[in-house]
Amino acid sequence: MESRYDDRRGKITIRNDLVELNIKNDFPIFSNNKDLIYLDNASTTQKPQVVINKLIEFYTKYNSNIHRAEYKLANIATKEYEESRQIVADFINANKLEIIFTRGTTESINLIAYSWGNNLYEDDEILISEMEHHSNIIPWQMLAKQKNIKIKYIPILENGELDIKSIKDLINDKTKLVSLTHMSNTLGTINPVNKIIKKIKQYNSDIKILIDGAQSISHIDIDVKKINCDFFVFSGHKIMGPTGVGALYIKKKLMNEMVPFLMGGQMIKEVNKFDSTWNDSPWKFEAGTSNIAQVIGFGEAINYFNKLDIKNINTYENMLLNILIERLKEIKPVKIYGHIKNQGPVISFNIKNCHPYDVSKLLDTYNIAIRSGHHCTQTLMKSLGTDYTNRVSLYAYNSLNDINYFVDRLIDVIKILN
Ligand code: PLP
Repeated sequence: MESRYDDRRGKITIRNDLVELNIKNDFPIFSNNKDLIYLDNASTTQKPQVVINKLIEFYTKYNSNIHRAEYKLANIATKEYEESRQIVADFINANKLEIIFTRGTTESINLIAYSWGNNLYEDDEILISEMEHHSNIIPWQMLAKQKNIKIKYIPILENGELDIKSIKDLINDKTKLVSLTHMSNTLGTINPVNKIIKKIKQYNSDIKILIDGAQSISHIDIDVKKINCDFFVFSGHKIMGPTGVGALYIKKKLMNEMVPFLMGGQMIKEVNKFDSTWNDSPWKFEAGTSNIAQVIGFGEAINYFNKLDIKNINTYENMLLNILIERLKEIKPVKIYGHIKNQGPVISFNIKNCHPYDVSKLLDTYNIAIRSGHHCTQTLMKSLGTDYTNRVSLYAYNSLNDINYFVDRLIDVIKILN
């Protein structure tokens, strides 16, 4: 690395180690929106042409319902759908029969709260953390109210990390579930889930662990066996797949202890007038006609992701994140929240005297898409002592130019607002 002086920005660092992944051309959204700088990837990611093609292929070549008909078209659709289950399973080192397709992370957590939560009783305890997305809070609140269960929170430290030391005082013989995000959608903090789970299972191996992988799925190599979690949930749309589809991993032996979530076609073995028996898992949890095209597109997205290779993605995104942080730190009124070493490519910040809403609205006039708000993490906002932040979240298709253009325009916006 070398340094030089820039008239406008002062001393800046020139990096010789920049390598671009250069995949923007795979994403038609960018050719249709030439100036778009898309920095809201924690919310949803853009879709490569191969995924869009796969959706078109399904609807134009073999659209039919799955698991129920004998004709050729239906066999192709069923085969493609079940192949996606294998792709998803391989991706997180699970068994194919441990993967349930849902509408996404939110539905997966609701399914667990309903189906596995059915086994909980009054005074049982669930441990979550202050940095959870609302979808990993509200289902537990509902269950707690129905069953008189207690919810406890792992606090966060000022640097945005979980206060792991507090866990030993928060779990006890009544603790039945610990449900944690792998990576914060607001701060980018990556939680050391392997270490946390090891500690908890050492205390009591019966405590079940749910990991919310909505953010980590795109940025961390996931191996559910190594993590040793009981449930792992994620959404297709955050890893370049279609919306309306997600995956729920459940350790095989737990599936038998769980009642079905939705009732109807396909989830049954035999239906009598007043009683029925259930299909085998995972189909027991996939009632009705599934999001067939989306599931097939989800598999294609993972194939595309695998070709890029998570190691390349990580190296590239970390480099962009470091440059972004370096540049944001140059701007005096910017306050970055909870930046730590082990962090995914997400950064939350506020600017003195500038409301996050105004900042994002003004940046939009330059075709820069960033988020402002509470990011569905109001308990975290309360711990951070703020109501809203601006959030920039990067993905493998972002370029160095995206980062520099964003920071340059942010400096302009600050001048306008002051
Ligand atoms: N959990 C985390 C950490 C998230 O970031 C999100 C979405 O932003 C969700 C859960 C909910 O995901 P979905 O809206 O796809 O169900």
